Amino acid sequence: MITFDTEMMNETLINARIVERFHGGFRCPFCETPLHEKHHLRFLSGGRMRCGACERFYTYRTGTPFSGSKLSSAELVLLESLLAVGVDAKPIAALLNLSADTVLDWKTKFEVLNV
Ligand SMILES: [Zn+2]
Repeated sequence: MITFDTEMMNETLINARIVERFHGGFRCPFCETPLHEKHHLRFLSGGRMRCGACERFYTYRTGTPFSGSKLSSAELVLLESLLAVGVDAKPIAALLNLSADTVLDWKTKFEVLNV
């Protein structure tokens, strides 16, 4: 069962969960060099970071299923929540200005992620 909480829509909190789940903490997704604490907030805010060790650029979404999506983290949570309570792809697509196919692609991704 899904319950709603306004904190579910807090971008920084959502991004922190993504960082924890997919990166295992604040670190470069390529070489796993830890990110200095003074950069954590910028990283969680979606800032583009450059690793001091491997010199590659990354954001909190790099290497995650959300990489490349134009949807905000709150929109992704909304999308996932609406799918979870059984809303059809078409109204979700209209709400978020996506194609129904894109909504169905996300449905598949979320099903894989929540196994
Ligand atoms: Zn690196």
